[in-house]
Amino acid sequence: MSTELRSNFLRTQIQSDLEAGRTGEVVTRFPPEPNGFLHIGHAKSITVNFGLAEQFGGRCHLRFDDTNPEKESQEFINSIQEDVSWLGYEWSGEVRFASSYFEQFYQWALHLIDNGCAYVCDLSAEEARRYRGSLVEAGQNSPFRERSASENRALFEQMRSGVFAEGAKVLRAKIDMAAPNMNLRDPILYRIRHVAHHQTGTDWTIYPTYDFAHGQEDAIEGVTHSICTLEFEDHRPLYEWFIEHLPVPHTPRQIEFARLNTSYTITSKRQLKQLVDANVVTGWDDPRMPTIAGLRRRGYPATAIRHFCEEVGTSRSDSIVDVAMLESAVRDHLNKTAARAMCVLRPLRLTLTNLPNESVLLVPNHPADEAFGVREVTFGQDLFIDCQDFRESANKHFKRLVLGKRVRLRGAIVIEGERCETDAEGNVTHVFARCVTLEPGADPDDGIKPKGVIHWVSADHSVPAVVRCYDRLFSQEAPGRCDDILEAVNPESLVVMQDAVIEPMLAKAVPEQVYQFEREGYFVADRYEHQSEAPVFNMTIGLRDNWSASNG
Ligand code: ATP
Ligand code: MG
Repeated sequence: MSTELRSNFLRTQIQSDLEAGRTGEVVTRFPPEPNGFLHIGHAKSITVNFGLAEQFGGRCHLRFDDTNPEKESQEFINSIQEDVSWLGYEWSGEVRFASSYFEQFYQWALHLIDNGCAYVCDLSAEEARRYRGSLVEAGQNSPFRERSASENRALFEQMRSGVFAEGAKVLRAKIDMAAPNMNLRDPILYRIRHVAHHQTGTDWTIYPTYDFAHGQEDAIEGVTHSICTLEFEDHRPLYEWFIEHLPVPHTPRQIEFARLNTSYTITSKRQLKQLVDANVVTGWDDPRMPTIAGLRRRGYPATAIRHFCEEVGTSRSDSIVDVAMLESAVRDHLNKTAARAMCVLRPLRLTLTNLPNESVLLVPNHPADEAFGVREVTFGQDLFIDCQDFRESANKHFKRLVLGKRVRLRGAIVIEGERCETDAEGNVTHVFARCVTLEPGADPDDGIKPKGVIHWVSADHSVPAVVRCYDRLFSQEAPGRCDDILEAVNPESLVVMQDAVIEPMLAKAVPEQVYQFEREGYFVADRYEHQSEAPVFNMTIGLRDNWSASNG
């Protein structure tokens, strides 16, 4: 799938920075906090940051913004690196960590203190909230605001050495308690946290805030364009204030764009964690999750995700993209790249009463691309068809197998339903049909052509498989807005077909290989659980969008 680059304000801005000589090389970064798995929204940010670097011949860093040790972990660090690589991007240099700059941040905090631009404040969180004022009311200066530089230095050094309890003191910038932008009302630079950090161990008992860290990280790394989402727009003046007041080696620039939101999806790590913790899904990489690891396990190709991220565009206005656009990108991609095969999800035995002998058919692997070649499929007297493809009687709209009517078996011959057997509850257990033709692909001599085609597998030459049929995880268009996210979950988001049967060739699929199961949809051999002796497939996406029809 080739993706054409669309023009957008970021590309235009960078182009003009290069032309005006404001920057020589373009350096961007993707800065996740390792406190969860990445989701589809992060995929957008990744394609924006890595994409811009690629387009302008620059480089993009992968930097963990690891300033909140409580919620972070090595598991998330690993998954994030794996996801970025899987999406097809390579970061420049080693993986970077904000935590490796902690000593520099500390020195810069001392620099602010020495210049009368920062102070240690003893107000409790509750008191600080009251002093902060509101959008319509100026804040009040903290009673600790006028401490001398030497007193502040001593106190801050003691904060570092672990003398004080958590919450006892913070370091704040001395900016303006009456600033209309609340972010400038003496924001917090450091908090006391007596917790170990996944990278720095017990070296620190104070940790910098996002605001005090992010711009300085960019400056240290020589980032030219620090691209983030719109919620940071109000933080930009603070970002710039730090860059101006510190002896940083470089001046980065923050530019914001609108987050990617998709319908029927949540893109909040907090809410995704809720689903994991409540066991609604099997983990962060459950195939129904909008995480990159989940989409991957579902069989979504990285190329289709990248294509989607480009197609939705990059702007400065928030909107919700129909998730059907992502699904359609996946379908379009797989239609071209997935080999066809047959799987019967709900097997019903079919016996052909007049088939002379078993034969091996050559069936094309792709209807429109000969490069996929052909495969051998054994065709015999006993087959399995899907129980939904048979009815004892039906009107003409049912174009599958009916008693007394004809249907074509995919890649094989035309048959006509003769009779069936049922169990005590009236369920059909066995169907009998006769062959009307014997030559694969041929039409009946009497000119009465079948209207439909159904898929099948040989009863004697098939392999049992578990097939997990997935649907959208949420039945609500805007699940994030529900009071309780768990109530928005689609109860039919997973239906497991325990008794499915597949062509023997499918059992040999390598994990993560996607096939089109004829007439059913696209399915991927599960990345972790699929084995030739015990095949497990996940539904990637159906052949058609069943949501747009029913939801208008
Ligand atoms: P969450 O709100 O789910 O916790 P986050 O924004 O806190 O996500 P980070 O790890 O800080 O997660 O995000 C890393 C980068 O990805 C940031 O630059 C952020 O702006 C960007 N990002 C996060 N969500 C989206 C989204 N939905 N669309 C585009 N970019 C996003
Ligand atoms: Mg964030």
